[in-house]
Amino acid sequence: MAWVNENYAALEDSYLFSEVAHRVAAFTAVHPEKKIIRLGIGDVTLPLAPVVVEAMQRAVFEMGVKETFRGYGPEQGYDFLHEALVKYYAGFGVSLESSEIFISDGAKSDCGNITDIFDDANIILVPDPVYPVYLDTNIMRGRRIIFMKGSPENQFLPMPDDAVKADIIYLCSPNNPTGAAYSKEQLEAWVAYARKQDAVILYDAAYEAFIGDETLPRSIFLVEGAKECAIELCSLSKTAGFTGTRCGYTVVPKVLKRKTKTGKELFLNKMWLRRQTTKFNGVPYIVQRGAEAVFTPEGQKQCRENLAYYKENAKLIGNVLEEKNISYYGGKNSPYIWMQCPNHMKSWEFFDYLLENLGIVGTPGSGFGSMGEGWFRLTAFASREATQEAVERFRSLPPQ
Ligand SMILES: *Cc1c(COP(=O)(O)O)cnc(C)c1O
Repeated sequence: MAWVNENYAALEDSYLFSEVAHRVAAFTAVHPEKKIIRLGIGDVTLPLAPVVVEAMQRAVFEMGVKETFRGYGPEQGYDFLHEALVKYYAGFGVSLESSEIFISDGAKSDCGNITDIFDDANIILVPDPVYPVYLDTNIMRGRRIIFMKGSPENQFLPMPDDAVKADIIYLCSPNNPTGAAYSKEQLEAWVAYARKQDAVILYDAAYEAFIGDETLPRSIFLVEGAKECAIELCSLSKTAGFTGTRCGYTVVPKVLKRKTKTGKELFLNKMWLRRQTTKFNGVPYIVQRGAEAVFTPEGQKQCRENLAYYKENAKLIGNVLEEKNISYYGGKNSPYIWMQCPNHMKSWEFFDYLLENLGIVGTPGSGFGSMGEGWFRLTAFASREATQEAVERFRSLPPQ
């Protein structure tokens, strides 16, 4: 008899995006003539930067020649990419060693896989609203999860509460879905809390490249003492358009250590290396050459042009919401605009209103947690033309 994992029965059906698709299909069936603008997409739309494509083409060619062909590579990634990342981090003031960086096929995998190296008795602290992966990967392990509330009172940036005991803390900054980003002082408070509780912070920096405000930290390791209590998860998905190409990296500092339940002290960097070398065989050489090109000066220039395009879209959306006196977060150091539903509408109510009256599709905030009720996520990933058209339609909304 094979028993299956009971915890999977405790997962809630993720109906958010299927329900969105269902309601849009129902609307277009009745109104085939209406042009729908999709501001719900959480995926990039601009193609890969030319230098990335050229680097991958060269790598494909190498793979077809006996002298330069490569088989299995190092599970944790090639040195050339580690070195590119060490330089990249140094560029915003963080000093890392190559062996602290692990290349993977993306932050979502690492986010789920990192749960392997922690005991299931840990109490998990996650923000609400939140990227659903933090929650579901821990439900799959049967762990106890507690929530910290994001709301306008804390600008959707929950802060530590000494009365709350937690062992593993998920932070995402700039945040998906709220677009809010922690300041250095706020991260200092989190690091202090984690160190006091002997907790570990899992810091999701997938949107760090969207930070334009120089005073905001692009890595938690800019905070003193963070290497003793934090792991950083990062991805080329949103920063370089790698959502379909797949490449990310996770930083596990050498000094980070914690005890097992029976008191054995282990280094998390060694544990993660052991986990990855056992269960993962690395990212394709071709993709890693493409990733390396992202971090060259020309690659950075080309990728930043794409980011600037999305950020301009975000600004256009933000501007029209301001004109309409609609309160929102994000949109500045993030591709997400987290807006309050007008006239006290609930998230799904506003979804229907927006679809039926303006032909615009967004994502109901309640799909990201109970604190998202009454809020709504718009994204800046549509084309400029579609975004401008959506802005014009928003302009026709009655004043709030
Ligand atoms: C998109 C996203 C990621 C990146 O996931 P990949 O697996 O690298 O594509 C990570 N975290 C958050 C919050 C995201 O929105």
